[in-house]
Amino acid sequence: MFKKIRSWRQKQRIQAVLLSVVLLLVITLMISCSYEGNTVETDEGANENRGNEDQDTPGNPGEEIDYQALGVNEMGQIMILMYHEIGEPEDTWCRTPANFRKDLETLYAAGYRLISMNELLDGHIDIPAGCSPVVLTFDDGKAGQFRYLEQKGAQVIDPDCAVSILEEFYAAHPDFGLAATFYIFYETPFGQNEYVQQKLSYLIEKGFEIGNHCYTHGNLRRLSPDQARRELALHVKRTQEYLPGYTVRSLALPFGEYPEKMSYILEGSFEGTTYCNEGVLLVGANPAPSPFSLNFNPAALPRVRASEMETGGMGLYDWLERLCEEHAKCYISDGDPGTVVVPEELVDQVDRSRLGDKTLLPY
Ligand SMILES: [Zn+2]
Repeated sequence: MFKKIRSWRQKQRIQAVLLSVVLLLVITLMISCSYEGNTVETDEGANENRGNEDQDTPGNPGEEIDYQALGVNEMGQIMILMYHEIGEPEDTWCRTPANFRKDLETLYAAGYRLISMNELLDGHIDIPAGCSPVVLTFDDGKAGQFRYLEQKGAQVIDPDCAVSILEEFYAAHPDFGLAATFYIFYETPFGQNEYVQQKLSYLIEKGFEIGNHCYTHGNLRRLSPDQARRELALHVKRTQEYLPGYTVRSLALPFGEYPEKMSYILEGSFEGTTYCNEGVLLVGANPAPSPFSLNFNPAALPRVRASEMETGGMGLYDWLERLCEEHAKCYISDGDPGTVVVPEELVDQVDRSRLGDKTLLPY
């Protein structure tokens, strides 16, 4: 084609046309780029709007909460879940790691958030508006609750033990919280003699709690008062040897057994070690009353068995269904730990002596 071009002028004209074509292409590209840029900005704007919508959802400081719409009821019941072993196979007193993960997923999806046993005793329930608190308890210091593995000379926490599963779930769902109380007995809680100190220190560091389960898992109904005092005090003494200054505040009754007279179970001393069990946990079989209710008896707190076997219709999933159906019976937070919000018709059931510096807000 260029062979046919005779004059310099013709060449110039062709060059001008080619230049125009190139310029046009460049301009078109620029326009399309800037259009894409606008598209991205539009998306970002939409995301920002979604973010703002999130900020408008209840539970943020200073937001007006529609108590009625959320069904807020801080006089509702609270599940204290009871676990024993985490391992294989699934059994009456053993939950598999897969099922424990399922429990956490189910609770999270149903709007439950973790609080600790001590927070329940203190009535300090700091969870988002519309959510329900749940307490996790582990009895007997079983190996599957907290296990170290030796891998290539290094110590790692077994990814399938309860502590790992809880931490893993918390990492993926920080708003679920991280809390559990381990009701252990001695000599060797969690089954590995060489790691007792390391494990107890680790648990406290992470915000977990240690509870009394007697020094040797004694049956408090069968023991004399002096023997019972020994069981309870030696646990505290040994725990404080591992964790200086740590206060053991609650007791899970071994076998769920307790004597007729509870005074020496609740507090006492033995050979210079004193104990005070502000909360005493039973074995069965229903949710506990709200800590602000006149029905709340910290000396006899019922627990729900976190199991799907032989629960007699009183297991975790039975209660999840029941509390969902009878929504009004479930504790539902207003998102503010400084207030106790209750439907007007339940005000006369509030134990005002347990309010502390919290404000009672009937609606
Ligand atoms: Zn036990």
